[in-house]
Amino acid sequence: MIKVAVNGYGTIGKRVADAVSSQKDMEIIGVSKTKPSAEALVAVQRGYPLYIADMSKKDSFEKAGIPVAGSIEDMLKKADIVVDGTPGGVGAANKTFYEKAGVKAIWQGGEKHEIAEFSFNAHANYRDAIGRQFVRVVSCNTTGLCRVIKAMDDAFGVMKVRAVMVRRGADPHVIKKGPIDAIVLDPPTIPSHHGPDVNTVLPHIDIVTMAMIVPATQMHMHAITIELKKEGSRDEVLAVMQKHNRIGLIKPETTIRSSAELKEYVMDIGRPRADLWENGIFEASVNMVGKELFLFQAIHQEADVVVENIDAIRAMMGEVSDPETSIRMTNEAMQFTAL
Ligand code: NAD
Repeated sequence: MIKVAVNGYGTIGKRVADAVSSQKDMEIIGVSKTKPSAEALVAVQRGYPLYIADMSKKDSFEKAGIPVAGSIEDMLKKADIVVDGTPGGVGAANKTFYEKAGVKAIWQGGEKHEIAEFSFNAHANYRDAIGRQFVRVVSCNTTGLCRVIKAMDDAFGVMKVRAVMVRRGADPHVIKKGPIDAIVLDPPTIPSHHGPDVNTVLPHIDIVTMAMIVPATQMHMHAITIELKKEGSRDEVLAVMQKHNRIGLIKPETTIRSSAELKEYVMDIGRPRADLWENGIFEASVNMVGKELFLFQAIHQEADVVVENIDAIRAMMGEVSDPETSIRMTNEAMQFTAL
C-alpha cells in the first residue's frame, strides 16, 4: 500500500484524500489543517488522522472536539508521498520540509513549473513521471486543455490551438472573492499563462490562449479552435472523444447548454460532491471547418485535477508503468461512469 499524506485539506486536498481512500493500492495516513473548521471536523469523521501546521494551536482544535494526531513533520515521517494542497504560492515554502523528510511530493497548478521541474498530465507524460521525487500536477484549465489537445494530436496531429477561457470567479464556498458584476480580463494582455503552461506538458504545441473571469462559481468554460494536420471528419473526431476515458461528451438530447445544468446533471447521476472529473465537451458544439476543429468544453475546476493526482502518485511510486492501466485503475475505483 502506498502511504499518502495530504498537506492542506481544502478544495483539492479533501477530494484527493477521498480519491486516494477509494484506491486499492493506496491509503491516507494523514491530512493537515491550519485552523479548526468544518473541513477539519469532516476529515476526522472520515477517519483521517489530522495533523496541524502550528502545534501551539492544538488546544483550539481539541476544544472544538477535533483530536490532533501531531505536527506536519510527524505526518511526513509516516508517508511515502505527500500531496501538497496548500493555497497557490504557499506550497513552494514546503519544499525544504519535504526534502528534509525525504518524502516524494506533488504540488498543484498554483505553484510554478520550476518547483518540481516537471509538470504532469496522465495522458500526456505519465511515463516521464515514473520514479520522480517531485511533480507538479498542472492547473484545472491546463489539465482540460492538455487532455483534448493530446487526444487530437495523437489522432490527427495538431498544427495550432487558439483558446478562450471563461473562468469562474471563485469556488462555490468562497465568500471573499469576486467579481460580482463584471467580466474581468484576466489578464488584459494576450496570451494568458494557460498556453505556456500547456507547453510545460506538451512543448511542441503552437498554442495561444486568452482568459477572462466572470461572476460564476460552478465551472470554467473553454471555447477552443484546433487546427489539425490531417483532415478528420466530425464523426472521426467525435469517435476519438467518445473513446477517451477522461473526456465526457455531453449529448444534445440532454438539452444541457450551461455549466449550471451540467453541474445539476453530474449531481443527479450520483457523483460524490457533484464532481466532474473529465472534460465535459458539448457534442453539439463539435464542428469541423476544413481542418479546423471548434468546440466548447466545461471544466470543473474543483475536480478534474483530482484523478491526475492519483495517477501521478502511482507513476512516482513506480508501481504501475503503463499509463492506461493506472488511469483505468483510478477511474474504476472512483466508479467513474460515462456521462
Ligand atoms: P484551498 O484554499 O481550498 O485549500 C488550501 C488548504 O491548505 C486549506 O485547507 C488551508 O487550511 C490549508 N493551508 C493553508 N496554509 C497552509 C500551510 N502553511 N500548511 C498546511 N496547510 C495549509 O485551496 P485549493 O483551491 O484547494 O487550492 C490548492 C492548490 O490547488 C493551489 O495550488 C491551487 O492553485 C490548486 N488548484 C485549485 C483549483 C480550484 O479551483 N480550487 C483547481 C486546480 C488547482
